Amino acid sequence: MIPSHFNYHNPTNLAQVFALLSEHAGEAKVLAGGHSLLPMMKFRFAEPTHLVDLADVAVLKGIKVNDSNLLIGAMSSENDLLRFANMEQLCPLLFKATQLIADPQVRNRGTIGGDIAHGDPGNDQPAVMLALNAQFHLESSQGKRIVAADEFFHGTYQTALAADELLTAIEIPLEQANKRFGFRKLKRKTGDFATAACALTLNFNDGQCSDVRIALTNLAPKSFRAYQAEWLLNNHPLNQDTIDAAVELAMRACEPAKDLRGDAQYKTKMAGEMLKRALLDATSSDSQ
Ligand SMILES: Cc1cc2nc3c(=O)[nH]c(=O)nc-3n(C[C@H](O)[C@H](O)[C@H](O)COP(=O)(O)OP(=O)(O)OC[C@H]3O[C@@H](n4cnc5c(N)ncnc54)[C@H](O)[C@@H]3O)c2cc1C
Repeated sequence: MIPSHFNYHNPTNLAQVFALLSEHAGEAKVLAGGHSLLPMMKFRFAEPTHLVDLADVAVLKGIKVNDSNLLIGAMSSENDLLRFANMEQLCPLLFKATQLIADPQVRNRGTIGGDIAHGDPGNDQPAVMLALNAQFHLESSQGKRIVAADEFFHGTYQTALAADELLTAIEIPLEQANKRFGFRKLKRKTGDFATAACALTLNFNDGQCSDVRIALTNLAPKSFRAYQAEWLLNNHPLNQDTIDAAVELAMRACEPAKDLRGDAQYKTKMAGEMLKRALLDATSSDSQ
C-alpha cells in the first residue's frame, strides 16, 4: 500500500518542531522510528498531511543519570537503552523488557518515545513505565508540563498528548528502578507483540510485599495497573492463597480483544500466569 500524499519536514531544533506542530495542528504527525506510524500510513489508518521528522533534533536523544532520576530522551532507540552503560544495573526491569521488544531491526530504529506516545496497548514500554512510576515531559509552543504514566494512557492510540505536543523525555525515579521487579511476556514468536505480559515492581520484607505496582500489556484497550491485585498483595503475607487471590483479581480486570493470538478467555488466563511468574521472580530470595 502507498501512503497518502504528505509534506515532509526535517527540523533540527525544538523551536522548529513546535512551530510546525502549531502551524499544522491536527494535520501533522511527528515521525520517530517509524515502525508504527509508517505501517499505519501505508494502510491509510493515519493520513497526516505533514510529517515532522524528529531524527535530527539532537536534544531529544541521550540518557542522563542524576542523584535521583534516570532521564531518557524520547528519541533514544530501544537499542540505545540496552547499550547505555550499566542500564542492566540501573533499571533492570527496563533492560529486561526492552530486550524482549520485537527483533533487532525494530529495536534499532524504534524509540522509547514512539513506543509510549503511540498508545498501543500491545506495546511493552507503557506497562513498564506504569510499573516504574515514570513521569513524562511534554512540551509544545504553549509551554512544558509533566504527566505521570498513571495519567497518560487514555485508550487505544489515545494519550494525554495534545495534537501540537511532543513527548521530549521520560523520567524514571532511581528509587523505583532499584526495587525488586518481575517481567514476563508470552509471545508466539520473535518479532511478535505480547499475547499477554506483566511488568511489576515491589518491596519484599519478612514475607510481605509493599509498594506493589502491577501493570499488564495487551489485555485491555490500554495498558493498565491491576489495582485490586496490588491492594491484596500490599495487605497480606505472600503465600499460595494470596498469590492465587491476586491472580484472580488481576484476571477480573482484563478485557482483551479476541485476535490471532487467542480468544479473551485464553489471554486472560495467560495474564494470570504472567503475573504469577513475575511475582515469583520478584520475590524469590536469590533472584535480586
Ligand atoms: C514487527 C514489529 C513488532 C513489534 N513488536 C513490538 C513489541 O513486541 N513490543 C513493543 O513495545 N513494540 C513493538 N513494536 C512497535 C515498535 O516498538 C515501534 O517502534 C513503536 O511502537 C513506535 O516507536 P517509533 O519510534 O517507531 O515511533 P513512530 O512509529 O515513528 O511513531 C509512533 C506514534 O507516536 C508518535 N510519536 C513518536 N514519537 C513521539 C514523541 N516524541 N512525541 C509525541 N509523539 C510521538 C508518532 O507521531 C506516531 O503517532 C513492533 C513493531 C513492529 C514493526
